[in-house]
Amino acid sequence: MNITEIFETMDYGPAPESPTPALAWIKERQPFGLFINGQWVKPASGQYLDSVNPSTGKPLTQVAAANSEDVNAAVTAARTAFETWGKTPGHVRARYMYAIARHIQKHSRLLAVLESLDNGKPIRETRDIDIPLVARHFYYHAGWAQLMASELPGYEPVGVVGQIIPWNFPLLMLAWKIAPALAMGNTVVLKPARYTPLTALKFAEIVQEIGLPPGVVNILTGEASQVGEALVRHPDVNKIAFTGSTDVGRSLRRATAGSGKKLSLELGGKSPFIVFDDADLDSVVEGVVDAIWFNQGQVCCAGSRLLVQEDVAERLIAKLRARMEKLRIGDPLDKAVDIGAIVSSAQLKEIQRLVEQGVDEGAEMWQPSWACPTEGYFFPPTLFTNVSPATTIAQVEIFGPVLVSMTFRTPAEAVALANNTRYGLAASVWSENINLALDVAPKLKAGTVWVNCTNLFDASSGFGGYRESGFGREGGKEGLYEYVRPAWETALRATARVAPTIHEWDVQPSMVGARLAPALGPAPGKDEDTHDHAGVSDFSNGSRIALPAIDRTPKMFINGKQVRPDSGYSRDVYDPAGRVIGQVGEGNRKDVRNAVEAAHAASGWASSTTHNRAQILYYIAENLSVREGEFARRIVQQTGRSQADAITEVQAAISRLFSYAAWADKFEGVVHRPPLRGVVLAMKEAIGVIGMVCPDEYPLLGFVSLAAPAIAMGNTVVVVPSQQSPLSATDCYQVLETSDLPDGVVNIVTGDRDMLSQVLADHDDVEAMWYFGSAEGCKRVELASASNMKRTWVNYGHPRNWLDPIQGEGEEFLRESTQVKNIWVPYGD
Ligand code: NAD
Repeated sequence: MNITEIFETMDYGPAPESPTPALAWIKERQPFGLFINGQWVKPASGQYLDSVNPSTGKPLTQVAAANSEDVNAAVTAARTAFETWGKTPGHVRARYMYAIARHIQKHSRLLAVLESLDNGKPIRETRDIDIPLVARHFYYHAGWAQLMASELPGYEPVGVVGQIIPWNFPLLMLAWKIAPALAMGNTVVLKPARYTPLTALKFAEIVQEIGLPPGVVNILTGEASQVGEALVRHPDVNKIAFTGSTDVGRSLRRATAGSGKKLSLELGGKSPFIVFDDADLDSVVEGVVDAIWFNQGQVCCAGSRLLVQEDVAERLIAKLRARMEKLRIGDPLDKAVDIGAIVSSAQLKEIQRLVEQGVDEGAEMWQPSWACPTEGYFFPPTLFTNVSPATTIAQVEIFGPVLVSMTFRTPAEAVALANNTRYGLAASVWSENINLALDVAPKLKAGTVWVNCTNLFDASSGFGGYRESGFGREGGKEGLYEYVRPAWETALRATARVAPTIHEWDVQPSMVGARLAPALGPAPGKDEDTHDHAGVSDFSNGSRIALPAIDRTPKMFINGKQVRPDSGYSRDVYDPAGRVIGQVGEGNRKDVRNAVEAAHAASGWASSTTHNRAQILYYIAENLSVREGEFARRIVQQTGRSQADAITEVQAAISRLFSYAAWADKFEGVVHRPPLRGVVLAMKEAIGVIGMVCPDEYPLLGFVSLAAPAIAMGNTVVVVPSQQSPLSATDCYQVLETSDLPDGVVNIVTGDRDMLSQVLADHDDVEAMWYFGSAEGCKRVELASASNMKRTWVNYGHPRNWLDPIQGEGEEFLRESTQVKNIWVPYGD
């Protein structure tokens, strides 16, 4: 073909990337061993697994199949290395990480080709997207290693981290895991996905090349059932960081429940791609190509649900079909190819199965007229129209090049459709009206929202999900907290229990039915201004008669009203001497459900102004301070602590309310400047409905310390107060009622802590669960929370000193009350 002919046909010429250097690299090393303690070792099993080139279906090489013996060796190496690496100055860690970034750039072409050979993704993507982002991640986190001491004072590394990654962005997912872990002083054992081990093995070579101390990074290839599960269950692993499917994430949540291991989960998605009728439709078409045909649609945040405003739907679909007709599929090493191979035959079959199901369910399928290569695992770009929102293809993650489209009429309908999913990873909004786009973005339940763009990533902007897309963030400062814990926690665990002024006692079953003594007599320290006391009255006939106290039986506090418990039962509350000092309602499943419903109905609280929330918190503090003496006496009565101690607790609670009133309009997001023309608005959003179970140690302060930050950040809460001493929380009803707090923002259900927390943790409309009680209770909460992957915050049975502002208030509480949403807003024409 001569130049004139090429000019006339405008056909692509071949632009092949040579695989020769990568194949030679493979040949020199095969079969690949395991990378443990800075050495290449043979697997204990002596077994090897094939790694297949998906574009040919033929084996590329063999890699070691590790088993639990290898996991033990790697964890031991990581533990030993942690003793030194965890104390290595940030500047030294930064130098190592800088060297890793440099070496990734030096080997960038080899890495790009290896990734394409092993995964099937086009070289254009590995060369221009994956590998540059990997290098950027290490540079960015080298910076955090350098700054850790000054920017995260009071935090320390968690220790040995087990990291498990998927096959869709093998090296990029490795970077997202290893870079923050190392920057914060942890050591790691990483398991690449079964299908795509090669770039992780090249990374191990880089680690050797730059002289990273042995054991800081260990890489184990092998099967999930052998390596992954052993890593997750290993007792000497302090944290599991996982990226993969929601089902496996759920099983990891269950497997680690109660173990005290930190856990971060980056899971699946079914992200909406919303097109308003004023959008630039040609840009939209290119956006769709990047949203769903990038990496063959095997992208967790792929824009797989196209939601189009009805009046432009037909025009957009026509343009899209024309563009699909021009997409080029084929050899991933051809630089003029848009779509490469699906990662494996199993994944290809799964895509085919779901597409057939879509057709069976009545949706209309369209594919371009050209045929896919017959060798290897290829699937054509596919578009479904006439899709009903409840069908399988509209709800499940297909993880392939399959787009389903639906229409909407109004922005409100678009938001409702977009949020009609159990996932919450990402979303794109397309409109030339920036006001509309920025109005819609905060309403979308997703960790990342792209405005007039899609699938943009940067190390500075955290990535992660809402809902069943998991919890935790990777990237940004927020991602660092996944790899650290407060230093006081370690000290506390070492010395077991602190809580200086706590008197502990157990409520014995034999106490039930004990005399209601103090209800008819003054509580300790009681004086005349209380209105639940017994007194003496002079009657007109001159007689003096002892008056019984007016009975005050607290009910539940639901939707701003005091309501009777559904059960019709009450439970006794005892003082330390075992005398009954009052009764509270025995809450049950129905009360919890009502409270959750009320908390949901109050979701408008999240959009109230931060100034307003601050004002209400100040007002609660003011109303509490008016009744300081009464609240202190109640604490004395319930706990037997000294009056002075009790006053200290009440004053600490008032101060804490002031703290969160102060934070309400100050714990704000940031604006990132990633390498693009535009900004990323990192907004701290409320999580939603938080179920919280209060500690017994400080009946009032425990309650205030948990509820105040949550509501300051816009959440609504269902609180189970201290089971032992619930009266301080129930005494707050009147304080809350008189402080302008909207109904349903705080709901209080008294009763059996573990029964109520189980119902809350099981509830699919509760978005996060905080539990401060027994170790066993923590485990139950973590287990149950796997149902809808709610975020949990538990104390594993270790009490904290709630009086101490370092342990009892501050950023940790605010972070647990928020999730970061990154809104990408490019600018320029
Ligand atoms: P997967 O869940 O099957 O496997 C992920 C990793 O976990 C693999 O290394 C696998 O070997 C390992 N694994 C599987 N079962 C395990 C077990 N019981 N115990 C321990 N380890 C186990 O996922 P996949 O098919 O490799 O990847 C696709 C999924 O990953 C999709 O759902 C996608 O959305 C998700 N993903 C999410 C993100 C994100 O950031 N949220 C990014 C990429 C991919």
